[in-house]
Amino acid sequence: DRLIEMGVMYTWFHVYRPMGPQASPELCLTPEQQKRARQFVVDMRVKKPIIIVDAYFDGEGDALCPAATGITNHINPWGDVEPCPIIQFSTDSIHTPGKTIKEKISGSAFLQDFRKLASETTRGCIVLERPDLLAELVEKHGAKDVTARKTAMSELGAMTVRTSQFNPGNEIPEKSWAYRIAKRFWFNDFGVYRGKDHQSNSAPAVLAKQTTPPASEPPLVELEC
Ligand code: SF4
Repeated sequence: DRLIEMGVMYTWFHVYRPMGPQASPELCLTPEQQKRARQFVVDMRVKKPIIIVDAYFDGEGDALCPAATGITNHINPWGDVEPCPIIQFSTDSIHTPGKTIKEKISGSAFLQDFRKLASETTRGCIVLERPDLLAELVEKHGAKDVTARKTAMSELGAMTVRTSQFNPGNEIPEKSWAYRIAKRFWFNDFGVYRGKDHQSNSAPAVLAKQTTPPASEPPLVELEC
């Protein structure tokens, strides 16, 4: 309400990712907190005269990653092309001569492999869910750490598997017909997750396996001869 009083016309909702040299993973949202944040956004979109942008869900409430779907990539201040603003590794620069920016983004083997890995692993955020797989991808492509601090790989290595916006069975569809239509045309997964199984490598699947107690051994039965 305060933002509306101040004349603000739109706002972005982002959810914390524990990146950087002084990350605070304790501030990451739990699945329940993430769900409440999503419900708040969906509710306010039909109640308040302000546009609310979030980047993690389609109109049906299914999670998505904008970098995996190819909706967004990021170019840093030095011209390096990154999968997204928090994945600060790159194999391509806008300053390299001979190719257009479009060719550098759509033709980049690193970005293509990133989209494949991210979309096959989870509908959520691969940085949060599987930093280990992301680190392997960075190494495979020899992608450069394009941060000023040059510690991005050790930061990635320190991360653990944690949940993100992907929370199967708890999808919250848009109530607003305007957002539903807008997302139907301009912000959805564009089919990149079709036919992909997220029940093995996503964080919900991995964490469920870690918490499932091992099956107890069946009792021995004496065989009669
Ligand atoms: S990898 Fe995570 S932070 Fe990056 S665009 Fe996808 S969901 Fe957002």
